Amino acid sequence: METKIALAGNPNSGKTTVFNILTGSKQYVGNWPGVTVEKKEGRLRGFDNVLIQDLPGIYSLSPYSLEEVIARNYIINERPDVILNIVDASNIERNLYLTVQLLEIGLPVVAALNMMDVVRKNGDFINTARLSEMLGCEIIETAAIRGEGLMTAARRAAELAGTEKTPVPRHRFSDPVEQAVTRIGEIISGTVDPQYLRWFAIKLFERDEKVREELGLDANLSAGIENIIRNCEQELDDDAESIITNERYEFIGRLMAACVRREERKNNLTLSDKIDRIVTNRVLALPIFAAVMFVVYYISVTTAGSLLTDFANDVLFGEWIMGNLSEWLAAIGTAGWLTSLIVDGIIGGVGAVLGFLPQMVILFLMLAILEEIGYMARVAFIMDRIFRKFGLSGKSFIPMLIGSGCSVPGIMASRTIENERDRRMTIITTSFIPCGAKIPIIALIAGAIFKGAWWVAPTAYFAGIAAVVISGIILKKTKYFAGQPAPFVMELPPYHLPYAGNILRSVKERSRSFVRKAGTVILLASIVIWFFSSFGMVSGRLLWVEDMEFSILAAAGGLLAPLFAPLGFGSWQPAVATVMGLVAKEEVVGAFGVLFGVAGDALALVEEGAYEGLAAIAAHFTPLSAFSFLLFNLLCAPCFAAIGAIRREMNNAKWTWFAISYHFAFAYSISLIVYQLGLLASGAGFSPASAAALLLVAVLAYLLLHRPYNETRRLKSAAAEIHSS
Ligand code: GDP
Ligand code: MG
Repeated sequence: METKIALAGNPNSGKTTVFNILTGSKQYVGNWPGVTVEKKEGRLRGFDNVLIQDLPGIYSLSPYSLEEVIARNYIINERPDVILNIVDASNIERNLYLTVQLLEIGLPVVAALNMMDVVRKNGDFINTARLSEMLGCEIIETAAIRGEGLMTAARRAAELAGTEKTPVPRHRFSDPVEQAVTRIGEIISGTVDPQYLRWFAIKLFERDEKVREELGLDANLSAGIENIIRNCEQELDDDAESIITNERYEFIGRLMAACVRREERKNNLTLSDKIDRIVTNRVLALPIFAAVMFVVYYISVTTAGSLLTDFANDVLFGEWIMGNLSEWLAAIGTAGWLTSLIVDGIIGGVGAVLGFLPQMVILFLMLAILEEIGYMARVAFIMDRIFRKFGLSGKSFIPMLIGSGCSVPGIMASRTIENERDRRMTIITTSFIPCGAKIPIIALIAGAIFKGAWWVAPTAYFAGIAAVVISGIILKKTKYFAGQPAPFVMELPPYHLPYAGNILRSVKERSRSFVRKAGTVILLASIVIWFFSSFGMVSGRLLWVEDMEFSILAAAGGLLAPLFAPLGFGSWQPAVATVMGLVAKEEVVGAFGVLFGVAGDALALVEEGAYEGLAAIAAHFTPLSAFSFLLFNLLCAPCFAAIGAIRREMNNAKWTWFAISYHFAFAYSISLIVYQLGLLASGAGFSPASAAALLLVAVLAYLLLHRPYNETRRLKSAAAEIHSS
C-alpha cells in the first residue's frame, strides 16, 4: 500500500531542505494543475511506497493566496495519509499558527521542530514533550541543514499514517464557538466527508467563500448557518473570522507561556543581524551589492566564463566538431546539402546555444552560492525599495539579473514570485535586459558603424533597463496588472555557510532546462531556418542554393522589408538578419557576415579593430538607421528558446501571445520614434512617418502620466451612474 506524506510549513521553514534530504534524487518537479506554482514530489529514500509531496509555503489555510488555496485543496481533495508539518522553531510563535490550523483538519500530523540548531545556539529552550501534549500531535526535533532527526520524523509520519488513531485536536475554541461549530456540522453532515466535518464547519463559520461555493449549499441551509454565526457574533461581540483568529492566537499564547523559554539576550543581536545592519543599510546596501555583482560578473562573464565559452564555441564546436565533421562527411561522400543541414543547420544552431553553457554554469554556480548563504533574500529586499516605484517587486530583480546572462533561466527564475500579476509582468519584461547573446550584435554595430565608440554598449543596456521601467509603469496601469506589488513578506533567513549539495542541485536544475531548450525548440527552429535560407526557387524549381541571396528567406525578407522601412532599415538583409535572430540572437551577426559578404569572422574583425573589413555593412546604414536597427533587435521578441520559456512559465497561450506582441509593438514604437525624430532633428522634411512618431510619443507620454486603472474608482463611478439614472 502506498503512503502519502504532505510536507506543509511556512515559507523559509526549511521544507525544501527537508524534502531534498528525504527524497534524495528520487524527485519530480512539475506544475500544479493550471498554474505555474512549482509542484515537487518524490519518494522517501529507502521506502519506495512512501510518496512525499512538497506543498507551497503558506502562513495559513485561508484562501488569501494562490499557494494557500493549492495547499488546502491538496490536503482536502487528495487526502494525504499524514501531514508532516515543518515548523521553524526559531520563529515558533508565528509558525504555530499554521500548525494549529493543520490540526483542525483532522488528519494525523507530525510536527518537525526544525532549526533546532538555531534555537540551541540562541540558548532558548522548548519543552517538546509538553508542547506535544498540549497540541495533541507528535513532535520531533530536527535540524534539516545537518540532516538531524529527519528520517525519524518521516518514519514516525509513515507509521502514524497506517494506524486509524488520528489525533483528536486538543485545542477547543470557546464554548459559544464550539456550539456554533457543532451545530453547523450537524447541518452539513452528509454533504461532506465525515473525517473533515469539523474543518468544513469551522471554515463555514469563518464565512470562507471558497468553501461555501464548493459545498453549494441550498439557500435554506445557508440561511440557517448564517443565523448560527450571527448569534455567536452577537454573543461574543466580534465578527466570526476575528473570533476564530483571536482564539487561535490566545491558544498559541498559552502554548508559548507553558513550553518556550527564551534566553535573555544582552543586545539581542545575532551575527546575522549584525551583518544585515551593514548589508541592508540604506546608504551602503547598493554599493555593496554593486561590488558583489561586479565580482560575480568578473568571474563568470569576463574571465573564467569567457575562456570556457570561447573554448566551447571556437575549439569544441568550431574546430573539433564542425571542422572534423564536415571533412568526414565529405570523405564518405555525403551530399552537399545534407552536410550543410548537419553542420550549419543543426550543429551551428544548437552549438551556438550550447556554447554558452559553460558560462551559464559558472554564473548559476555563483548565484546559487549567494542564494544559499542567504544574500539573495537581502538583494530582493534591497531592490524592493527601487522596483516598487515602477510596479515590480524586489523579487523581479533576480530573474532580470540571471536574464542578463540568458533569458531562458531568467524567465524560469520568475517562479519564485508568488503573486501572479507580478510574475507575469516579470516574465514579460525580463527579456528586455540584454542577454549574453545580444552582446555580439551590440559589438558588431558599435564596431562596423560607430568605429568602436565607447557609448554604444552602455546605451544598449540603458535602453533595456528603460524598457523594463517604462513597461512596468505602463502595464501596471492596465486592468490586468493593476494593484500594488505584493507586500514584501519574505523572511530574511539567517546567513549560513553554503551546503554543496543544495548548490549543485540548483545548478543542475537550471542548466538542465537550458540544455533541454537547446535540444528541442532550438533544434527545430534551426532546421526550419536552415531550410528557408538554403533553398530557393530557381526558374520555378525548389533547389539548394549556395548563395543566401537567392533563398526563400531572402525572398521573404524582401516581403518583410517595407515593414521596417519607417525604422530606417527597409532592405531585405536586415529583415533576414532579424528573423535569424529569433533562432539565437547572435545569429544576427552571422547573417550579416554572410549577407554582406564580409570576408572572415565579422566579430574577429571588430575585436581587432579592423573596421575596414566591415565597410559593406557600414555602407548599408546611416548611424541613425544602425542605431534604430540595434534598438529594434534588442527589444523585439526574444529568441525561440526564450519564447518557449515564456510559454512554459505563463502556462497559457493567450498570455504568451500577449508578451510577444507587446515586445514587438514596443520595439517597433521605440525604433520608429528614435529614427524619425532623429531624421527631423537632422533637418529632414516632415513626412507621414514623422507624424506617426510624434503621435506615438504623445501616446507614450499619456500612458506614462495618466491616472492608473483603479477597480474601486471604477465601481464607484458605475454605482453613481446607476444611481443617477
Ligand atoms: P522553504 O522555503 O521552507 O523551502 O525553506 P528552505 O528549505 O529553502 O530553507 C530556508 C533556509 O533555511 C535555507 O537557507 C536553509 O539552508 C535554511 N535551513 C533549513 N533548515 C535549517 C536548519 O535546520 N537549521 C538552519 N540553521 N538552517 C536551516
Ligand atoms: Mg522551498
